[in-house]
Amino acid sequence: MERILVIGANGQIGSELVAALAQQHGAANVIAADIGPRNRFGAARYEAIDVLDRKLVAHIIDSYQVTQVYQLAALLSVTGEQAPLKAWTLNMDGLLNILEIARERKQADKPLRVFWPSSIAAFGPNTPQDMTPQLTVMDPTTIYGISKLAGERLCDYYFSKYGVDVRSIRYPGIISYKSPPGGGTTDYAIAIFHAALRNETYSCYLGPHTALPMIYMPDAIRATIELMSAPAEQVKVRSSYNVAGLSFDPQQLAAAIQKQHAGFRIDYAPDARQAIADSWPHSLDDAEATADWGWHAEVGLDDLVEDMLRNVKVDADAAVQAA
Ligand code: NAD
Repeated sequence: MERILVIGANGQIGSELVAALAQQHGAANVIAADIGPRNRFGAARYEAIDVLDRKLVAHIIDSYQVTQVYQLAALLSVTGEQAPLKAWTLNMDGLLNILEIARERKQADKPLRVFWPSSIAAFGPNTPQDMTPQLTVMDPTTIYGISKLAGERLCDYYFSKYGVDVRSIRYPGIISYKSPPGGGTTDYAIAIFHAALRNETYSCYLGPHTALPMIYMPDAIRATIELMSAPAEQVKVRSSYNVAGLSFDPQQLAAAIQKQHAGFRIDYAPDARQAIADSWPHSLDDAEATADWGWHAEVGLDDLVEDMLRNVKVDADAAVQAA
């Protein structure tokens, strides 16, 4: 039986991951944790913890006899640029705390499986942008991307040196409707649906031809759980796996929305986020994830648009509208 701790559980991914894990393992076996108070998606158990407080995190892991940790707490690309030192400290020390706890537990014969997400932000302007391979040039230009690349190397190091069973995915931009995005460069692909459903013209902060790798939340959650469920010997990449969902630019997304929501209008006013997007891949080659643990994306663009238009609540969150 698994006992699972999700840190950063109130966030865009955490809130949906907690629900999926609770369904799979039983709500009593999933402990949601975040720095703030419990959100409306709360699991059966909730702990308010700061991932930077290693003693407290270790205490929670011991007292619940946790066997798997998902460490999702981070500052993302846009919020990270606003507070680079805070982003570096949270993103690196948060991961290191979990890896160190996992190393100590491995020595004590109480293994802890760790999931930590990297991002397409770990790539940079000299990375090949189309069908970006698993192993390639990585020269990230944001503090967020630099922390993700360093994190990938730490994961590989803790696996190679200490045998820590750590697993990771380079998430593309994640599109979802249940909870607001956390301040990333791909947030436009969520905000655009809120504008469409309010019958407003969407002013896009990226130019029309800025293609980026994206994934719909159900595919992202399934990828995460499939990777964490794979037998250890099948997990051959211990830095972080490329995982592709779909790839489109704002003009293609707007056209797909117009097919189902006639009259939708978009204009373009690129801002500082354009430079970040320009340094990221257009699409990913995820052949290793497919070969090693059977990954296949399921959701295409038209299905994603249909589901978003059906489910987005227009007054859901001011943060989405502002993005
Ligand atoms: P989010 O910002 O929505 O959620 C992060 C959560 O972490 C928040 O609920 C926040 O309260 C919590 N948190 C912040 N500081 C904390 C601390 N010190 N201790 C405990 N909790 C703390 O982010 P998200 O979009 O859910 O992303 C989760 C992870 O996935 C991050 O590592 C992010 O880099 C990665 N990722 C996300 C995307 C995406 O499109 N959402 C893409 C690539 C990678």
